[in-house]
Amino acid sequence: MTSQDPAPTVTGERPPAEPRLPQERRLVTEIPGPRSQELHKRRTAAVPPGVGSVLPVYVTDADGGVVVDADGNSLIDFGSGIAVTNVGNANPRVAARVKAQADRFTHTCFMVAPYESYVAVCENLNRITPGDHEKRSFLVNSGAEAVENGVKIARYATGRQAVVVFDHGYHGRTLLTMTLTAKNLPYKHGFGPYAPEVYRMPLAYPYRWPTGPENCGPEAAAQAIDQIGKQIGATNVAALVIEPIQGEGGFIEPAPGFLPALAEFCRANGILFIADEVQTGFARTGDMFACEHEGVVPDIVATAKGIAGGLPLAAVTGRADIMDKVHGGGLGGTYGGNPLACEAALAVLEEIEEGKLTERARRIGEIMLPRLRVLAENRPEIGDVRGRGAMIAIELVRPGTKEPDPELTARIARRCHEQGLLVLTAGTYGNVLRFLPPLVIPEGLLTEGLDLLEAAFTG
Ligand SMILES: *Cc1c(COP(=O)(O)O)cnc(C)c1O
Repeated sequence: MTSQDPAPTVTGERPPAEPRLPQERRLVTEIPGPRSQELHKRRTAAVPPGVGSVLPVYVTDADGGVVVDADGNSLIDFGSGIAVTNVGNANPRVAARVKAQADRFTHTCFMVAPYESYVAVCENLNRITPGDHEKRSFLVNSGAEAVENGVKIARYATGRQAVVVFDHGYHGRTLLTMTLTAKNLPYKHGFGPYAPEVYRMPLAYPYRWPTGPENCGPEAAAQAIDQIGKQIGATNVAALVIEPIQGEGGFIEPAPGFLPALAEFCRANGILFIADEVQTGFARTGDMFACEHEGVVPDIVATAKGIAGGLPLAAVTGRADIMDKVHGGGLGGTYGGNPLACEAALAVLEEIEEGKLTERARRIGEIMLPRLRVLAENRPEIGDVRGRGAMIAIELVRPGTKEPDPELTARIARRCHEQGLLVLTAGTYGNVLRFLPPLVIPEGLLTEGLDLLEAAFTG
């Protein structure tokens, strides 16, 4: 594309859907191979160990459902860069629009001189997030920044300070979002003091609920509501922040009834319900947003990860009456809604809607869940199989107990990696294997990935 070509429009031509790279697993060296190991030595001398990598193969190329490394190995991607490349890595439509934009302008700062693509992204978010009410959106750079802005706005709009979060929650690594996050190691340890006025409540975790999964939703909601009243006082609470399915916490699907009961409690008490859909958003769970599953309509939604195919972008979308309260200039950031990222987001939204990727996500769940349940029947180490759409996990325990087994989890993940299947772990106890394939992954690769996982248990 030359700079003379007209910029692709929002409903631009669909580039060829043929994958650029063969959609296949191909191992030509051990994992990681010699070239990756060399690069890893350089990295160790240049980058602090605080920044980890799940699998230190150094990537040179990626497309659709595969990641290719510096040694020429082609790996099956069950991670999507942590639920980011939902539309496939290097999605052609995303790439084309980013390239075209890069030839025009790369930055003006929306707070200095605005541009249409930012507005179009916000219009789309206002349209596709849950609820038919009037909404406003603005754009930032990361999930943490989106969540943090949601809390700022909620405090402003309510004139209250307290923020309620939940066990196993993950919301980011900034001071406030690290405080909102439940897990000490690695996210919080030694990084205090934390931000004030954050209160943590029990989560409806069906697998580990003492009186069983059937009672979990209503009981957990009643406990949380009771504790909020006793410990904080509902009239002091600005917002409740919750992931509709816990991400880093281990893909915990709150038991049915939990989210609606909390949303109802918020509505009755002037508390704003902030859904952190950073990991669950953009078709990942089989709905455009995970809140839709139980018809929950949040006051504010934080989005990021899947929004722009890997370009750094995040958003806060909320009820117009809340969002419009904040004084002029109170919200923003230098890079927020960068034009390259906005073009990518517009391409992603077209891909999701035209490609019916919510249906693709459901299909992935329909393939994965039954296979994993059969595996669980034969493997007493698998305590729980859960998730929705293309956000699926298994929780590993010592057979006959619910005692977490993080060592086995790490071992299985390593075996998968050695066989060319990129999987991630998660969970408060580090005992969850989570699967987040790109929604466009060919079914053959998905099945092969499941075969490799099965073999990792028996090997
Ligand atoms: C990843 C994540 C965040 C933080 O997003 P960053 O872009 O890494 O700041 C917040 N909330 C949830 C649920 C996440 O999964």
